[in-house]
Formats: sequence, structure tokens, C-alpha cells
Amino acid sequence: MKDFLRLVRLFRPYYGWLALGLLLSLVTLLANVVLMSTSGWFIAAMGLAGIAGVTMNYFTPAAIIRACAIVRTTGRYGERLITHDATLRVLSGLRVWFYRHLEPLAPGRLGDYRSGDLLSRMGSDIDALDNTYLRILLPLSVAAMASLVFLGWLYWQQPRLALAEAGLLCIAGLLFPWWLAGKSAVASREIIEASSRLRTDAVDALQGLGELVLYGADTAHGKNLRGHSKSLGASQLALSRWSSAGQSMVLLCAWTTVWLMLVLLAPAVAQGSMPPANLPMFALFALASFEAVTPLPLAFQSVHGTLAAARRLFSLVDQKPLIAEETRLTSPAASTFGFEFRNVDFHYPRNGQPALEKISFTIPVGSKTAILGPTGAGKSTLVNLMLKFHAPDRGDVFFAGSSLAAWPAESLRQHLAVVDQHSHLFIGSIRQNLLLADPSATEAQLEAACETACILDWIRSLPDGLNTEIGEAALRISGGEARRLAIARSLLKNAPVLILDEPTEGLDPVTSRQLMKNLLRHCEERSFIMITHQINDLPEMDQIILLDKGQMKGCGSHRQLLVNTPEYQALQAFAPVFNR
Ligand code: ADP
Repeated sequence: MKDFLRLVRLFRPYYGWLALGLLLSLVTLLANVVLMSTSGWFIAAMGLAGIAGVTMNYFTPAAIIRACAIVRTTGRYGERLITHDATLRVLSGLRVWFYRHLEPLAPGRLGDYRSGDLLSRMGSDIDALDNTYLRILLPLSVAAMASLVFLGWLYWQQPRLALAEAGLLCIAGLLFPWWLAGKSAVASREIIEASSRLRTDAVDALQGLGELVLYGADTAHGKNLRGHSKSLGASQLALSRWSSAGQSMVLLCAWTTVWLMLVLLAPAVAQGSMPPANLPMFALFALASFEAVTPLPLAFQSVHGTLAAARRLFSLVDQKPLIAEETRLTSPAASTFGFEFRNVDFHYPRNGQPALEKISFTIPVGSKTAILGPTGAGKSTLVNLMLKFHAPDRGDVFFAGSSLAAWPAESLRQHLAVVDQHSHLFIGSIRQNLLLADPSATEAQLEAACETACILDWIRSLPDGLNTEIGEAALRISGGEARRLAIARSLLKNAPVLILDEPTEGLDPVTSRQLMKNLLRHCEERSFIMITHQINDLPEMDQIILLDKGQMKGCGSHRQLLVNTPEYQALQAFAPVFNR
């Protein structure tokens, strides 16, 4: 119940729309019941009047019937329009709400989730919440209000009729759906879980299709997917069976009420104390009034699935960001944009081994720093700490003289241009991808950035140049080209600190040298931090931070390290001749 109320509170901005939808639904239902019962009475009364050869006022009932028919038709149209519009508004609001909560969790917390699982939560779980209003809140509220009106009118006519109808409405709309919901809960839960499993594994399989085919594991994986699909189908079938049972029960109760009305009223008609035309009126009234509870079995059935989806979303949203946001920093001067690590220890939450231990160094403003070390040394972790994706376990990291704890993450990242190992290029033109960094960049600025990143000649060789579409289903580009485009994009950001992860990886030696030369020229006035495990470009850097297994083995210029750091000397044994 707590989760359901929390869900309903999220709908607050749309309460007006939801209430309007509810009102239209109620009016439509009432119009339908009045239409059915008046028609029943009118047809019978006209027939009886014809047999008896008497005249009767048919203008008033005919007008009521016409009015109710118009209200029912337009009401139904308006109700569908408003309730579905309100639901779509609610869903789009929920997506924004979910994304807002998701963003601060990236990348630290989200690393624990598979992308298919996140996609599933973003897509199907949020879509499942459309049940909350359309299938649960709306029918329950309309049924409750309409039933009160129906029972009130019947009680006014004859209390025992109200009693009979109340009992059967309760069975069809409350007791049976309640029992049914318990029965179908397992199937509902299984549907959510099976579709999530299916989606997660399908996304995983698509992303790794190359490897699956290469290792001949595609058949086994396909079998696995078919298994998930089969169990999803089985759960859906079970749920449909229970749904059909619910609908049948409503019909059974509705017709039982019709018979009960006839049985209860027939003696009065026989005795002449009630006009015979009232019989079909009450019978059709009873039949039509059950329309109010027809959606209730489905409503009760949907509660479990909807709550399961809501809980999955809440479990993600309720996670605290790894690092709390701060807003107490005034803008520091650009002349102070240097980093300092003081005795930093860090380990990843799910990894017992420390990723960094007792790390202390300074990256002065405008310096060129290489972070060097073998794979797994902790280089990317160092950058993750600089970007405030994680916070140190011990010690502190400072930027522009202030601890990162005091830096609002967003304003910190405004000062940093970063290209990591997995920089993403979006589906769209090369120009659109570049403009992400600076939407107001001119053609000349775009070309200058591409030239610095050594990618301009390649772009010019393409028939559509900067307008060439890249990404899935468009031009396939190599890892090296993608990396250089990402570098060009980072240069356009014009940030005072440029952080590049292996910028020259995968490039031929000539392009690699040219790129380094261009980057160093571009960063004359900026700080340049480069992660690398290559030793070719180190002599040009002001300082080199040498890491191994999370520990700092040395920090200093190429010449200093050559003299006083044995690990660096060992590395240089593999360096090309021109480095020495
Ligand atoms: P490098 O960039 O030098 O290759 P990393 O900084 O990526 O090294 O990794 C340093 C250590 O932290 C490694 O032992 C690695 O296994 C571990 N590590 C990196 N990322 C994670 C993570 N998200 N969760 C757990 N451990 C991690």
C-alpha cells in the first residue's frame, strides 16, 4: 500500500487530468445505465399501451433516451481521449523523474546493472505503470462511486433490491477479484521477471553477437532465449485464463441479479401493485449496472504486476549517489585549475583489493602530465576520482585548491574535457556529434578541432564531409577514427583541463606523433593529462606519474625518473631508440 500511495503521489502534477477522465468515465457509465433501463421501460410501456389501445406521453422518455445516447457516445470518446492523454502525460513525467534520479547514480551505482536491465526498467517497467491509472485507480473509483448511486436509487425504490444487487456487486467486483488477484499474483510476477530476463539477455546477446558466433555459442544462447520466451508465454497464458475467469464471473453475477430482480418483483406485478413495464426496466438496470464492476477483476490482477514494476523502479531510484552533491563553492579563478591528490586510498565497492593506495601528487596548472602504468595499475581509477565519479576512501583530492567534496559535480566537469576508453559517438552526422561540445562552434572552429585531432583529412575525403552520418546503420568507422573524433569533440569544449585516455592507441606511428604534437600545441595554455601505457611520448611531458598495482612507483620528469626510479628504467629498456 505504501508503494502504491508513493506511486499515486508521483501523479500529482496530473491530478486535474486524471480527475477529468474519472468524471467523464462516471458520467458515461451513468448515462449508459439510464439509457438501458429507460429503453427497457419505454419499449415495454409502448407495447403494453398499444395492446391496451391507450395513448401515452412518449416525448419525455424518447428525449431522455436520445440525450443519454448522445452523452454516452461523446462521453465515451472524451473519456478515452482524456484518460489516455492523461496516462501518456503521466508516463512521460515518470520517465523524466526516473532519468533525473538515474543521472546522479552514473557511473558509480549503475555499474552494478546490466544495460539490458536498465533498458527494461526504463521501458517496460515504466510502461507497466500505465495500469496504475487506467486499469486500477480509474475503474476502482468509478465502480465505487457508480455503485453508490445505483444502490442508493434501488434502496429508494425497494431496499431488498438494493440488498440483492449489493451482494452480487460485492461478489463480482470485490470478493472474486480479490481471490483471483491472489491466484494470478504468481503469474503477474513471473511475467515481469521473465520479460526482464528476456530483454536483458536479448540485449546482451545482440551486443556480443560477434563473440557468440565466433565461439559457436549462438545456438546455446538462442536456446536460452527461447526458454525465457516460453516461460513468458506460459505465464501470460495462465494470467489470461484467470482474466477470462474474472470476466465470466462478472457476467454470471450480472445475470443472477437480473433473475433475482425478476423473481423479487414478479409478485408485485402479478398483484397489480407495480406497472409491468417496470420489470424490464429493473432487469436492464441490473444488467447495465454491472458494467461498473466489469473491469475490476483485471484491476485487482494488475495490482501485483504494477507494484512489482514500481518497486523495481523505486529500488533503483532510492539508491544514494556514491557521492553527495555539494553547492557551497564559489567560482574559483582559472589560474588555480590544478589537481592535488593527498594520501588517497580507494577501492571499488565490489572489489576487496585496493585500486589505489597512498597516492599523493600535484598536477600544476598548465602542466603536461602522463599517468603511466600497465593495465590494471589504477590509471582510469585516478581519472574517475578526478571526475568525482567516486570519492576516495581516505585522503582527499583537490581541484583549484578546494576538496572535490566541496565541488558540485556538474560545475567541476565543466572545467574538464575528457576522452575515456569508451567515448560514445551518437547516431547522427559527424557535425552533430562535434556540436555536442559547443553548439555555437563555427565551421572554422569545427575544422580546426578536427585538424588538431588529425581527422580532418579523413573527413574531407568523405563525400558528405562533416555531414556524413555515423553510428549504427550508417557509416562504420574504425576505433582510431572514432577516438580522434571524440578528441576533436573534447577540444571544442575549450575546457582548461584536457584529460585523454590513450589518445594515440591504435594509430600508426606517424599519425600518433603528429597527434601528440598537435595536442601539446593546443594545450600550451591548458593542463593536459594523458593516460598511457605506451612510453613513446613521455619525454615531452612535464611530469610522469608511474603507477603499478594501485601504488605510485614514481613521479617526476622523464629525466628524473630515468635517474631515480628503477621501474621506469626497466620500462625504458623497451622504448624505441628515439626516446632515449
Ligand atoms: P587501468 O586503467 O590502469 O587499466 P583501472 O583503474 O581500470 O586500471 O583498475 C584498477 C583496479 O581496479 C583493477 O584491479 C581493476 O580490476 C579494478 N576495477 C576497475 N574498475 C572496477 C569496477 N568498476 N569495479 C570493481 N573493480 C574495478
